[in-house]
Amino acid sequence: MGINQLFKKKYFLASLQFATLLVFILLIYGAIGVTTNNKDFALVLRNTNLSNLIVWSYWWPFIIVTAIILGRFWCSICPMELITSFFGKIGFRRKPGTILKSGWIITLFYTLILVVGIHTFAIHRIPRYMAYYMLILLAVAVTAGLVWEKRTFCTYICPIGHLLGLYSMMSLKQLRVKDTDVCKNCKTKDCISISNHYIFSGRSCTSELYPAAISDNRQCILCGQCHKSCSKDNIEIKKRTPVLDLFSEIKLSWAEIFFFIFVSGFVVYEVLSEWKSGKNILMFLPDILNNSLAIPGIFTGTVNAMLLFVIIPTLFYSLFVLLSRLFLNESENIKTSFTRFVLAILPVIASMHFLKSILKTTSRIPYWKFAISDPLGYQSANAIIGNTLTLNKTAIVFLFPYISILALVLLFTGLIISMLIIFKQKNVKKVTKFFTLTTVMIYAGLFFIFLIKWRIF
Ligand code: SF4
Ligand code: SF4
Repeated sequence: MGINQLFKKKYFLASLQFATLLVFILLIYGAIGVTTNNKDFALVLRNTNLSNLIVWSYWWPFIIVTAIILGRFWCSICPMELITSFFGKIGFRRKPGTILKSGWIITLFYTLILVVGIHTFAIHRIPRYMAYYMLILLAVAVTAGLVWEKRTFCTYICPIGHLLGLYSMMSLKQLRVKDTDVCKNCKTKDCISISNHYIFSGRSCTSELYPAAISDNRQCILCGQCHKSCSKDNIEIKKRTPVLDLFSEIKLSWAEIFFFIFVSGFVVYEVLSEWKSGKNILMFLPDILNNSLAIPGIFTGTVNAMLLFVIIPTLFYSLFVLLSRLFLNESENIKTSFTRFVLAILPVIASMHFLKSILKTTSRIPYWKFAISDPLGYQSANAIIGNTLTLNKTAIVFLFPYISILALVLLFTGLIISMLIIFKQKNVKKVTKFFTLTTVMIYAGLFFIFLIKWRIF
C-alpha cells in the first residue's frame, strides 16, 4: 500500500500519535524519579537511564534526520499535535495575535531551552529535569489548545517549529495538490472549510494553509488531514527534487532568520566539541569571560551558550551581511540580505547537524545493554564509574571509518549545494556573492579541519 493510500485511512496517523503519546508518558515515568547533583555521575547517568538515552540520543536525532530527508514527518506523528488539537476543540478558540504570528515565540522558546534548559540546568543529562521539560511542553500544548483556536501550539509555539520548517526545505517529499485547476473549480473547499476544523479525521487545514497555494515545505506538518478531507482526491504526497525550496524566492521572517543563526552556533559547538581540542578552542572566549566576571557554578553554562549560540553567530552574520550590502546593485531590504545568507549556509549546517545525529546514535550503542537491564540507570552508572562494568566499544570501532567517510560525504554534499544556491541567486552582484561564499567556506573549512584532525590524524 502506498503512502497516499495510507494517508487516506481514518486512523493511520492518529493511531501512531496515540502510540507516541504513550511512549512520551512512559519516558517521563522512567525519568522523573532519577536525579543526581554530581556532574560527573550525570555524564554517565544520561546514557544509562533508558528514558534519557532514548530522548536525547535516538528520538531527537531521529527528528533531525527525518526533517532533512522527509520534511516535517515527525510532526505528523507528534503527540503534542494530538493533545493541542483535542484541547483546541473544547477550548476558547481565540485567534492568535500578532506576537504569536510573528514566529518570535518559537525562536525565544527554543533559545530558552538551549541556554537555560540544556546549558544551565542540564536537562539533557539529568533525567528528572528532562521529565520536567517534557511535562512543561505538554502543559504548554494543553494551555495553547485551551486558549487559542486550531493548532496554535504547532503553528506558532512549538520550540522546534522553525528548525523542522527550515530543514524540511531540503526534503525529498512534499504534500501538494495534484491539479490547481481542480481547486479553482472546487465549490466545497473541504481542505479549508471552517465547519471541518474540529472533526477528528479529515479536518480542514488548521495550520493556516490552503493546499493549492503551498509553495514550500516550511509550514505543512504533513498531518494528512487535508488529504483525507479533499472530496476530489486532489492532494498527494509525492517525491520532489531535494533542496528545491532553497533555490526559490523564499521570504524568511526575522524570527526564522535568527532561529537559524542560533542553530548554526549550536551545530558548530555540538560538532566541534566531539573533539577535545576543538572544544578547548571553542571555550577559549567563554572561559575568559566566565573567569573575568567570576560567574558562579551552573551559570557559566548560561554565559557559554549566550556567547556561542547567540552573540558570536549574530555578530558573525551581521558583519558579512553588512559587508555584502556595501556592494549591492540597488537598495535591497536588509531582511532579504540576511535571507540570502541563511538559505546559502543552511545545507552546510544541516549536513553537520545530520552528522551530529549519526554520531550521537552510534556512540551510544554500548549503553543499550545496560539501559535495558537497569532502566533507571543508577546501578549501571555506578558500576561504569567504578570500573566494574566495561563498555563494549566493538560496534563504535567497527563503524568509525564508515562514519568518517560519511562525515566527509555529508560535508561536501552540503558545500556543493550551498555553492549552487549562491551561483543561482538572482539579481546579486558577483562581489556580493563572494561574501556569501566566504561565509559558507568559513563554516565548511572549520568543519573540514575539525573532521580531518579528529577522525583522520
Ligand atoms: S484540495 Fe481538494 S478540497 Fe481543497 S480546494 Fe482543492 S480540490 Fe477542493
Ligand atoms: S496542508 Fe494538509 S497536511 Fe499540511 S498541515 Fe495543512 S492539513 Fe496538514
